[in-house]
Amino acid sequence: MAVRSSRLGAAALGGAAIVATALATAGDRPRIASIPTPSGWREHDMARPRPAAVEPADWTVAARPPADAVVLFDGRDLAAWESSSGGPAEWSVADGAFAVAPGKGAIRTKRSFGDVQLHLEWASPDPPRGQSQGRGNSGLFLMGAFELQVLDSYKADTYADGAAGAIYGQYPPLYNATKPPGQWQTYDVAFRAPRFSPSGALREPARITAFLNGVLVQNGETPVGGTSWLEAVPYEPGASTGPIVLQDHGHPVKFRNVWLRELPERVPATEAERHAPKIVAVPTAELDALAGVYGDGGFRIEIRRQDDALLLKLPFRETPLRIVPIAPLHFVLPYTDGDVVFEQGADGEPTVARFRIADGVPRPLPRVGK
Ligand code: MG
Repeated sequence: MAVRSSRLGAAALGGAAIVATALATAGDRPRIASIPTPSGWREHDMARPRPAAVEPADWTVAARPPADAVVLFDGRDLAAWESSSGGPAEWSVADGAFAVAPGKGAIRTKRSFGDVQLHLEWASPDPPRGQSQGRGNSGLFLMGAFELQVLDSYKADTYADGAAGAIYGQYPPLYNATKPPGQWQTYDVAFRAPRFSPSGALREPARITAFLNGVLVQNGETPVGGTSWLEAVPYEPGASTGPIVLQDHGHPVKFRNVWLRELPERVPATEAERHAPKIVAVPTAELDALAGVYGDGGFRIEIRRQDDALLLKLPFRETPLRIVPIAPLHFVLPYTDGDVVFEQGADGEPTVARFRIADGVPRPLPRVGK
């Protein structure tokens, strides 16, 4: 049995939609035409193809955390963890690792996290016992809701969406990259938490990228909801953080070297910073007058008119760029932090084009030809 996130209720998102089609029937009852699953496969569909096996390498084992990492287990104690039912984490710690204490229940981090890069090492019980889901089963739950399966899948079959590396019940791993029981294996995960609108509506599902033993097994997959067992559960409206949870599935799976990095939100442009050049109209004759070749010893640009704007031809670009006027002599690149400012002589003829990209000093390029 998989740990089911108890806080995931039965709201509207993510579940299997029931499509009722009102077909004329003798008893005037609408016929339930289909109950599609998000992927088309049933959860745990035994017909779903198994991931191809690939021999992993060892380069991620014992990876040292970057300096800004939140270390969740440094080999000594479970101070960062507690029991999922409250109270201290009662799993066993020995030899720089900790292990599931069967029957003690799942453990979770005391802190909650949203977007993270996470590293975790695990080892299946050796010698192996059991088969399918009964063989070295545990799990890494992101936000307490999305399970990356931990299982002894080494030369051992189970349903595809429950193999090691699966987003449980939803996305089989791209490969079976597991190592033999007893050997240290690594998860390296990039997790992006779901985003919600202020009203709680799901704006962006969670996104999971995961490497198992250095092999990509989940490539930016978007869970349809929290992982569960035998049913689809929806996203919990508004929940964008949660603890890291490790599952007690009754098997003494070992863990060590667990750390994560909390990832920053990208900085959105403020209204003032939002690039939306206010284009002014420049008469065609004035645009034509600016056309020409500008350059110094090492660098040349060409300016041509096209319709109501100018084209900028740069030496290191095949295609000319459209530059638009925000003043009669000031043109900007619509997509890039860069501009061209023209100077005129007393006779009104352009003499210099000052060309700038990003942090470059505006480069004064004398006009050298028409
Ligand atoms: Mg599991």
